[in-house]
Amino acid sequence: AAAAALTVFDGDGVTADGHKVPLLANVGGARDAVQAAEANAQGVGLLRTEFCFLGRDTEPTAEEQVEAYRGVFDAFPGQKVVVRTLDAGADKPLPFLTDTTEPNPALGVRGYRTDLTSPGVLERQLAAIADAAAQASADVWVMAPMISTAQEAADFAALCAAAGLRTPGVMVEVPSAALTAEAILGEVSFASLGTNDLTQYTMAADRQLGSLAALNNSWQPALLRMVHLTVEGSTAEGHAKPVGVCGEAAADPALAVVLVGLGISTLSMTPRALAAVGAVLNSVTLADAQRIAGIALAAPTATEARARTRAELPILD
Ligand code: PEP
Ligand code: MG
Repeated sequence: AAAAALTVFDGDGVTADGHKVPLLANVGGARDAVQAAEANAQGVGLLRTEFCFLGRDTEPTAEEQVEAYRGVFDAFPGQKVVVRTLDAGADKPLPFLTDTTEPNPALGVRGYRTDLTSPGVLERQLAAIADAAAQASADVWVMAPMISTAQEAADFAALCAAAGLRTPGVMVEVPSAALTAEAILGEVSFASLGTNDLTQYTMAADRQLGSLAALNNSWQPALLRMVHLTVEGSTAEGHAKPVGVCGEAAADPALAVVLVGLGISTLSMTPRALAAVGAVLNSVTLADAQRIAGIALAAPTATEARARTRAELPILD
């Protein structure tokens, strides 16, 4: 039974005492979404829309976009699908949107920032998402990548409202967004932590460089503090907004427990990781997860945070 628990996810992310933590999938298009649904993901926590159009040197038409998004929505009827608007730039150039001659692409015009240099593309994408959502039964949420300020969050929310999209959110993947989470979450309905970029930018360590892997590690004390700060901002007086995680950190079973203990409400990951994360979550109570999160937060190094967390989770031995 234990072996089976590690290979099959039964479609219910829940702690031993019944605290629900929906386990969602990261997908790059309809084919991924069908596989994610077969793996019993409880929805999509990150649709990387740029993956639908990689290599394109012209903007996809409205029809192409509607078809791509509908393919994902139709794999999850009645379930949540979080669509991320185009995150072009840096490691994911889209020739029709990005300038590949920038000296520092990771710090350049990428993600939401392309709205500055290519006005209209984002509005047309939001209209296509709204059209596709109107033709499907999925519960469609929409979020912007690389948001750095509360003003950007407010501007994005206004564009979503104009398109008739009622659940706008932002990715928190830039340190300034984590540090100002309270103000940002005052403008939108939810946040999703992109721990891949948040780790890269917090540690100033390129996520693509294997030689910096020890720094580029989401167990780093600074990254755990960024998560903690974001959750604190989300529960500030006057609002309580959900904060999920959609970076690779959510796919590490031990780190997933820490994230839940810190107050993260959903975890989105590669479908391969669903079973292992589901099993470890089911082995702890919410109070255990909170206690373990305290242990991880107090650890002096990434290595210690991971070792001390794993020592509390015998199911991972
Ligand atoms: C992230 O940065 O953690 C994230 C989920 O987005 P991407 O990996 O697509 O940049
Ligand atoms: Mg990112």
